[in-house]
Amino acid sequence: MRSAVLVGFGQDLAVESLEPLPPGPRDVVVSVGASGICHTDLSVRNGLFAGMVSGPMIGGHEGAGTVLEVGSQVTRVAVGDRVIASFRPACGTCSYCVSDRSHLCDALGAFLQAPRATRQDGSSAIAMSGIGTFSDILTCDEASVVRVDSDLPDAHLALLGCGMTTGVGAALFTARVQPGSTVAVVGCGGVGQSVIQGAAVAGAARIIAVDPVESKRQIARRHGATDVVDPTTAPAEEQVKELLRGKGVDYAFDVVGTPEIVSSTFRMINKGGMLVLVGYGPMDGEFRVPAFDLQANEKIVKGCVAGSAQIRRHFQLFIDMIESGRLDTGGLVSQQVRLDEINVAMKAMLSGEVIRSVITTF
Ligand SMILES: [Zn+2]
Ligand SMILES: [Zn+2]
Repeated sequence: MRSAVLVGFGQDLAVESLEPLPPGPRDVVVSVGASGICHTDLSVRNGLFAGMVSGPMIGGHEGAGTVLEVGSQVTRVAVGDRVIASFRPACGTCSYCVSDRSHLCDALGAFLQAPRATRQDGSSAIAMSGIGTFSDILTCDEASVVRVDSDLPDAHLALLGCGMTTGVGAALFTARVQPGSTVAVVGCGGVGQSVIQGAAVAGAARIIAVDPVESKRQIARRHGATDVVDPTTAPAEEQVKELLRGKGVDYAFDVVGTPEIVSSTFRMINKGGMLVLVGYGPMDGEFRVPAFDLQANEKIVKGCVAGSAQIRRHFQLFIDMIESGRLDTGGLVSQQVRLDEINVAMKAMLSGEVIRSVITTF
């Protein structure tokens, strides 16, 4: 197998040949057709979650492909099935999975530590999120893949493994955006653009997209933003309130995670409003919430992982919404690249001009 491997924080990923470990009875081997490159891949590379990663790790956490082989106890997928690999598993039996909160599935911890391949120097490599999609072949527990029925290209389906599901789900399932409400989305990369699409589907009256990059603000308009704000010209919260005649928004989504920006996003919400934390910030990041304001104005601060989506039914729901034109994945794919170009593609993400690069040639 050929994979892009994280070998040290702050370093380029190493594209190398590895020997896959034989699949266990519950494992699935997938021929990866496409893998999205998400901002979290860059954060992991830069050591933002250093406490969670030790040793070499095959990168990548959203992908789509075809099942090549299944272990003896696998029941959910069969050889030849098209699948999406999800950065959050859904085992189906833990207390979260059986209470319709599979996005919090308890199985993840064990998958994060599972060795999946042997490197040429004899060391073993784990796989990011238990899947490791920066690879022509991946082996994962069947809990991490979902069989889907679609004619969409893998390059589009891959985005459901993390970015699109997180964003659309944040609006529809985490916040449950109400028709006629007002929304601000801070950070308009792949996830932020998907939050905007979700809010539009939910019937929000105003959707304000906040991003310093002009091209992202323009794309946000195509995805349903009614207004755009450039946070470099004046404090974003002031510009948002100006657009709403002095009022805040009902829902503000922070898709950045930097504590100062989270604080600014909190100040955008109205009485009774909700701040939803979607972006991954540093593990030791903190932000202050004025207690009186929170209590007296009934404000809500809510975390969001994987868009609170239930992948076993919502992946297919989102596919149906893409196929019927209600959601747009194609508009999120800025470029298709080769695995060898992974480090260049990650730098392009830093510059802010790319919504999503997708690896389609391994
Ligand atoms: Zn991601
Ligand atoms: Zn579970």
